[in-house]
Amino acid sequence: MKHDSGWRRLIAIVLTKWFIRFTKLTTPLKPKELDLLDESIVVFPFRSESQFFAQATPFGTVIWNEHWMGGLPEHAQRVVLRHEQSHQERNSVFKGLLYGFALWFVFGLFALTGAGVLLFSGATTASVAYTGGIGLIAVAVFVVTVRVDETLADYHALRDLGEEEFIAGYTDLPSVSDSSILADVQRRIFYPTPQQTIKLHRLVKRIERIP
Ligand SMILES: [Zn+2]
Repeated sequence: MKHDSGWRRLIAIVLTKWFIRFTKLTTPLKPKELDLLDESIVVFPFRSESQFFAQATPFGTVIWNEHWMGGLPEHAQRVVLRHEQSHQERNSVFKGLLYGFALWFVFGLFALTGAGVLLFSGATTASVAYTGGIGLIAVAVFVVTVRVDETLADYHALRDLGEEEFIAGYTDLPSVSDSSILADVQRRIFYPTPQQTIKLHRLVKRIERIP
């Protein structure tokens, strides 16, 4: 939330606080301004032991988990904040696609469940394959879109903070993150590793140098 003013800003603040209440199941704390990047950013803090460090909301704001972020060194906070700022800056067409594909994802899960039911109820192979195929495509489209979004966010953090700070920041993150198997699978599917982002950044630099 940067250039909005007046009632739009007010609505964004109210929705963000409710977003914290409903999705993080905790009380929002007082908004604060962070001076970690080139420009200061207002974040909406909360305290939760969930795996979230911070998150860009659908309302153009950034929520900030003090439980983890408060104890992190500044370079790690900068990596997280630049990552979330990148999500925030994504254009509205991409954001629209992302939220639209999220609905597809839910539909895809239903279709895959339906395919499973059809399979065990002795339906024809063609109908199982058709339902399952549609479900898989719907799920895959969402996964790829999220992966692109997360890759761009990490790429922007790396590009703007430099390789050294990016690696140092990331090194300090996993120790406070959720280490359950589900969280690990989620991370592998939706998020690039720092090494993958570094490779991408070097590749882009190489391409840019080509006359
Ligand atoms: Zn992200």
